[in-house]
This record gives sequence, C-alpha cells and structure tokens, in this order.
Amino acid sequence: MKNEDVAKLLSQFADLLDIKGESGFRVNAYRRGADTVKRLDEPVQQLVDEGRLIDVKGIGKGLASNIEDILEQGQFPDLEELQDEIPGTLLTIVAIPGIGAKTVGRFYRELGITNVEELEHAVEEDRLTALKGIGNKQVQRITEGIEFLRQRTGRISIGTALPAARDISRAIGESLGTRAEPVGSVRRYAETVGNIDLLVESTDSDSITTVLKDRFKASEIEIEPADRVRAQIPMVGSLVIFLSDAEHWGSDSIRYTGSSEHVDALGLPESVSATSETAAYETLDLPWIAPELREHRGEIQAAREHRLPELVELRQIRGDLHMHSTWSDGRASVRELAERAIELQYEYIAIADHSHGLAVANGLDAERLREQRKEIEEVRAGYPSLTIFCANEVEVRRDGTLDHADEVLAELDLVVASLHSGRNMPKEELTERVIGAIRNPHVDVIAHPTGRIVEQRPPAEYDWERVFEAAAETGTVLEINANPARLDLPEHLVAQAVEAGVSIAINSDAHNLRGLDVMEFGVGIARRAWLSSEHIVNTWPLDRVEQWLGR
Ligand SMILES: [Zn+2]
Ligand SMILES: [Zn+2]
Repeated sequence: MKNEDVAKLLSQFADLLDIKGESGFRVNAYRRGADTVKRLDEPVQQLVDEGRLIDVKGIGKGLASNIEDILEQGQFPDLEELQDEIPGTLLTIVAIPGIGAKTVGRFYRELGITNVEELEHAVEEDRLTALKGIGNKQVQRITEGIEFLRQRTGRISIGTALPAARDISRAIGESLGTRAEPVGSVRRYAETVGNIDLLVESTDSDSITTVLKDRFKASEIEIEPADRVRAQIPMVGSLVIFLSDAEHWGSDSIRYTGSSEHVDALGLPESVSATSETAAYETLDLPWIAPELREHRGEIQAAREHRLPELVELRQIRGDLHMHSTWSDGRASVRELAERAIELQYEYIAIADHSHGLAVANGLDAERLREQRKEIEEVRAGYPSLTIFCANEVEVRRDGTLDHADEVLAELDLVVASLHSGRNMPKEELTERVIGAIRNPHVDVIAHPTGRIVEQRPPAEYDWERVFEAAAETGTVLEINANPARLDLPEHLVAQAVEAGVSIAINSDAHNLRGLDVMEFGVGIARRAWLSSEHIVNTWPLDRVEQWLGR
C-alpha cells in the first residue's frame, strides 16, 4: 500500500470524526498523521518493518497501531466502523469546495443530508438558511461548489493529454512510416480536453489498432467506417484518431484542430483540399493562424487585417523565477536545480522557498534565509553562466502584511508573495490583502494569484480591476504558474492583466527536477491570451530583469 493511500484513509477518518462532532484534538491528530505519512521520504511499510514508525514526529502510539492495521488488512477497520455509523457518502460533500467537515456534520445531524443530491434539494427548498449561522452567502458558495464539482468530471488535464498525444502519434508515425500529429484542443493547449485527437495520414486502421493495443494497452477500440478510430487509453482517457491523406492534410488539420467556433467562422468549404494549413488558409486569403488563437476571439479579423500578435515561444524563455529546493518542501538541492536550469539553457533562476509562516512546508525564517544565501553563493561560484537569485516565496498574512520584516525582504534579490491560506474571505478584504502585498516595495511577483486548482478548487475572487491597476502602477508582476494543475492566472485574466499594463512571469513552481519541465504549459496559456515575449519578464535579457528588480 502506498503512503498516499494510507494518508487518504487517515484523512477520511479525520473528516468523518469531524463530521461526527468529535473533539478537535482527536480530529487534528489524524489530520496531522495523514499529512505526515504523505510527506514521508520512504515507504511507511518499511518504517513499520524496521520498528521505526513510532520515532516519526507527529505519529503517536495510537496512530502507529492504526497504520499497522491498515497495512496489514489493506483497509482501515476503524474507518469502516465509522462509515457504518455515519454515511461515508458525506465525504462527497466534504469534497465540495467551500464546505468544511464541521458544516457537513451539521447538515447531516440537523437536516439529515447525506449526499450531494440531497444537499442540492435542500438548497432548492431553502432549508439550509433555517440553520443558525448559515446565511445566503454561504448557500451561494455551496451552490457554486456543487456546480464546480459537476463540471470536473471526465476531463483530461493538458499535463496528461499533451505528453500522451505526442507519445501515441510518434509511435503510430514510426510504426506505419507515416505522418501522425496531435490535433484538437490538446494542440490548442486548452487547460483540459475531453478527447485526445490525432490526425494520421493513412487508411490502415488495422495497423493503427495494433499499435494502440500493443504499445498503449488500449481498450474499447472502435473503427468507424468513414475515417476515424476511437479508443480508451488506460490512465489517460479517450482518444480519437482521424484518418487523412496527403491531398487533404492541411484542410483536415484545420478542421480537426478546431475550435469548432473558429472553423465555422472561417467557412472553409468542404470541397477544399489543401496539402498544408498555410495553403488552406491561403484559399481564404488569410495568413496561417496559430492553433492557440483559434478560439473565435477576433483572430480571423486580426488575420485579415494583418495584426496577429507575434506570440511568445518556449525557446524565448530565459529563466524561471519560482522554484523550491530542499531548504523548504522541494526535493532537489540548489545545485541540482542550477544544473538542470543550465541544461534548459536558462540564463537566470530564482530559488524561492517558502517562508516560515508556512510551517507544514518547513518554511525559512530570516536566519535560515541567510544560511541559504551562503549555499547559493557557493553554487553560483561553480556556474558563472547562470545567475541565481536569492528569493523567497513569502506568505501574505490575513492583514496584507508579509511573513518577513522589511529589512529581511530588502536582503533578498527577488520576492515572490503568495496567499496560501484564508482565501475565502470577502472579496473586498481579499482584494485589500493582495493589494497590500502588491504595494510592498520589496514584492516583485505575486505567485498563483487565484489559488485555483484546475477542476478541483475554484479561483479566489478579487476585484481584479483594482488588483491589475495596483500591479501596473508598482511594476509588480503577476505569475502564470505553469504547473498544469494550477495554470494560474487563467488565460482570460492574463489577457485582462496585460491589457491593464501588467507584466507577467511564467514560472514552474517546481518542487523537484521534473517540475522544471512544465514551462511549456504556461507558455501555452500566454499564447492563448495573445501574449508576446515583450509582456513576459522571464523572456527579457538579464540586465532588463535586474533593472525591473531594482525599480
Ligand atoms: Zn505557492
Ligand atoms: Zn511555490
């Protein structure tokens, strides 16, 4: 059993205890235990085998014996028992963003609500506000949370879809000796996709089927007589392969890349055959339009008037301004991060570990920051081609002040500020809080501004106009967090921010070496927001970045 599976059982147990109304002490012990197990560097089984589990900080005798039970039986007997006592489906309500276990417990005890559908009925019949302390605002949040939970189903993250699309098209291309390329929303770098779409120059659906089965363990393969193959790829999702030929490749590529709104608006006649996309667009007197722009947001008009943007490209990225090392909750050392950055041909990076306010992540106080600077200086000496900024990802407290004193911030080369907790305060207060950070003269970047998790946690709400105005005025940069689970800012806000005169940084927020490789997803979001390299600080040469930091 994996650590995360053990942790999940413990945290479900904590939620159920909380729902049941048990003491906070016991609930917290299990929550902390779950967290501790999730963060272990070695399999918890090994700790048990070697009798070392009890030595782990945060795991007492009771918890240790629970964990042993779980590992031995493959399930958590106490949890099973509790699930009999109170409905396990209550956990699906806990999964709704914006509702805590305590509130779920009250819905259950006071209204008998056990699942999402029942909760929805109660909202419709306005029964929740009958409870003490539950107001219209919270009901509104709950409704939004349910809606959000619904939309979440069945989508594939771009972080999963794009690598899979590349792997499968490469395998088919090599095996059949033909052209095979990703099309559809995955080619347009949409945040999530319903299907992975590929275009293949072939009529040989049998050979394609063989590759899908042998190489990708595909199931539910259906060959549709016209021109396509459908399949399910384990751990990925559904795949659709469109078959084409050399003569129609360009027009088919446009048609199957979509979006359908773009294709409809183009009015590309069915009869058109074009060997390349450029040739197909030419038949309409248009220049080639980049896939990320094909969303029917004015791109056809812009193409007609020859004012398409010169979109930023991955190769223009010169650095990465937000990553974590072993000093806080990262897995790679400063040296390892530096070496990988050089492989990526970066000219500069910023080591931005957490600040001490984020205790769960082993955040740094002023003293450890100074120790870290020493290590960074040593690494710098070994890699003169790379500039390493001493940075920190500093918590923004509830009152808008920062987790370090100004004189500590002043010692840093670059300050990234983040709101990791307490984001569900009223919009006006939250806006004041982030503007407080933006107006701090030491703050350079606001990380993952909305705090959303794609399809899981909705974005925090700000008065964006005011946030953008403050950022533009102070030269504070807003991040596109390139982690495909975040993609934060989302594209529509990126476009508005840049419109308001704000600059953007595309950062990996890597917590290990592989985490540095997500940059292209952030670039995809920037391109979908029509951005050029000019708008993005980490495409700028070093001297210009230093000028901005010294502003
Ligand atoms: Zn963060
Ligand atoms: Zn971070």
